[in-house]
This record gives sequence, C-alpha cells and structure tokens, in this order.
Amino acid sequence: MTTNGARPGTLAQEPAPTPLALLLLGREADTASERGVDCPGDLPAASDPDLVARARAAKAALGDRVFILGHHYQRDEVIEFADVTGDSFKLARDAANKPEAEYIVFCGVHFMAESADILTSAAQQVILPDLAAGCSMADMATAEQVAECWDVLTDAGIADTVVPVAYMNSSADIKAFTGRHGGTICTSSNAQRALEWAFEQGTKVLFLPDQHLGRNTAVRDLGLSPDDCVVYNPHKPGGGLTPEQLRAAKMILWRGHCSVHGRFSLDSVNEVRERVPGVTVLVHPECKHEVVEAADLVGSTEYIIRALDAAEPGSKWAIGTELNLVRRLAKAHPDKEIVFLDRTVCFCSTMNRIDLPHLVWTLESLVEGRVPNVITVDPETEKHAKAALDQMLALP
Ligand code: SF4
Repeated sequence: MTTNGARPGTLAQEPAPTPLALLLLGREADTASERGVDCPGDLPAASDPDLVARARAAKAALGDRVFILGHHYQRDEVIEFADVTGDSFKLARDAANKPEAEYIVFCGVHFMAESADILTSAAQQVILPDLAAGCSMADMATAEQVAECWDVLTDAGIADTVVPVAYMNSSADIKAFTGRHGGTICTSSNAQRALEWAFEQGTKVLFLPDQHLGRNTAVRDLGLSPDDCVVYNPHKPGGGLTPEQLRAAKMILWRGHCSVHGRFSLDSVNEVRERVPGVTVLVHPECKHEVVEAADLVGSTEYIIRALDAAEPGSKWAIGTELNLVRRLAKAHPDKEIVFLDRTVCFCSTMNRIDLPHLVWTLESLVEGRVPNVITVDPETEKHAKAALDQMLALP
C-alpha cells in the first residue's frame, strides 16, 4: 500500500513548500500579512444572546466617531450594522468622504482595508475586525514574485512595452508595483476601459492577479483571441513560459483566481438551465472563461444588483457570485425567482470570518479606548499605490 498517490516502490514525498505555504490558524503567522494570524483578546461567544444589543449599544456610544463599511459579500448579521454597503472601491471612497469618522471599521478583507487606508486621511484609522480575513486571490501574487516576473520580462526584452494593470483585489504592494511601472488599477466595472487605456500606452499588458477577469475582458470586450493570452505561473522558472511565448503574447495573465467564483463550472450552467427552464444566467467576470461564455449576462457585483432591481416580476435568474449576496438579493426580490448558480455552498470563507462576535469585540474595544487590528500601509508603498489608483480615477 502506498499513500499520497505515490507509485509502488517509490517514496511518497511531500511537495516542496511554496512561498505561500498554508499557515494554519494558531500554529504559524505571517505578521506582514493577514495570513495565519488570529485576533488578540477575548471574543464574545457566538451564542451570546445579547450580541445584537451589545453591537447596537457600542455603535451608539461611538456615534459619528465610527463608520462601518460592509462589503456586499458579508454576512447578514454584520451587514445589519453597516453604515454603507458596496464593493471594495466604493467603500474606500465612502470612507474618504467621511473625514469626521476617526475609526473606519472595514467589514471586508485585508486588501480592502489597505485600500481604505490609502484613500483616507492620516487622522482616520482603518480597522479589520478579524486579521485572518484575507483574500486567497490577493495572496496569489506577492511583491517578490511580481518583481521576479518583471525581471523575466526584462530578460525577454519586453518590459519597456508592458503596462501593468492590477485588479483592485490585490495587496497594497502589488498596487504600488503597478504605480511604479506606470500602470493602473481596475475594478470589475472598469476593466475594459483600463485595458483599452493600457494598450494605448504600450503593446502588452501584465494583468494581476486574476487571470479570469483579465482573459474575459481581453477576449469578450476587446476582441482579442484566447491565443493572445498567456498565463504566467509564479511557481515555475520563467513563469513556465519561453521568451518567445512572452514576446508573442498581448496579455500576460498572472496565474491567480478567486476561490469562490473559480468554483462555478460549465456543468453548473447546464444543470441550472435544466432545473429552471427559462432562467437567465448572470455571472461575475471572475468566473472561468467557459462559464462566462455560457452565461447570458456578465457583470460586476454592482451590475448584478442593478440588473435584478430592473428585472421583470416573475423573471427567473441564476446568479454566479458569492452566496451571502445572492441570498440577500433573493430575499429583496420575492417577486422574482433568484437561485444560486451552483447547488454546492459557495461562501467566501475569509469574508465570513468577520462575524458578529468580531464586530462586537471591535466596537467595544473602541468604546474602552483600545484601537484593535489597525491596518496601515507604509508611506512609500502608499505613494506608489495611490498613483495607480489615481490613474484609475483618471481613466477616460
Ligand atoms: S470572493 Fe474571491 S476575490 Fe473576493 S475576497 Fe473572497 S476569495 Fe477574494
């Protein structure tokens, strides 16, 4: 008998650790990021029947000094206390437009809190209620890996022609890299405009870190061929590509993906069409290309919300995005049939780390004069990341 799928007669070997080896909560921690960290202090028990009352009381005691942001993918119990809801960029801007709020409690994930820190004033502190709320996609591109990639592009003689475009869902380090190299940030709403702008500045784009959003936008919206795209794998020498492949490509896609949207498959689309005759399939552009091609409509979270607001009563929809949002949309539109695209549960596990106990602990800590879990971006990183964010705001 062998284990780990090793052939008889061979030794089963552990795979070599990658720079992003899994860090188990409570066992190891990477203090430079959210990975593997846990919250200091004692959280109230999730079963505490007074949690809602405690959250209300602490929020009321803080008044205008606190502003709570709730990302669309957060749990209902957290959204209930949000002053505003939205996608990550809208929330960061909402926080910047609320300068009287000393404390910005970001109910979302780590990269979102970083963006809020970049866009808010030095007098405001951005707090992430659970430091373990990271984003697996953002973690798929580290500063070291991206610097190494740039060296590969330089050695291939093409770095001068490449414009980096980084998705909002990336760390502050990656945004800063993008700013330093004359690129732009994009969201899922403006990715087309960002790519069009980038192709006016250079002849190639390095798209970070979501290969699916990059490919879907390039092929569907810009009319490029899938063959114009190559995937750079940071775990392989040279990204797993030859210099010739890099020189021939127009889109160099980073090998990253969202672990929620990446789960939807062509089978999910085919199955729901059989299960719900007459259904309109609407998916997020972080889904795989084959899923996006098979769907009826594709759009960002904000687009999905608007499409369902505008939908006819009695219409049937299958939505391919995070489950917390889909369930809230179904509740908000009882006159329409709204189902989740996949039968299997598909929450974002890191978004779900922010729960009511963490929110109560955060608010009560602030009431007691302690400021927990502050997310700060160093000034040098902030300067370059802000340049890339400003370029996005200046997109035509
Ligand atoms: S839904 Fe995907 S991109 Fe968004 S935080 Fe979760 S893993 Fe990251």
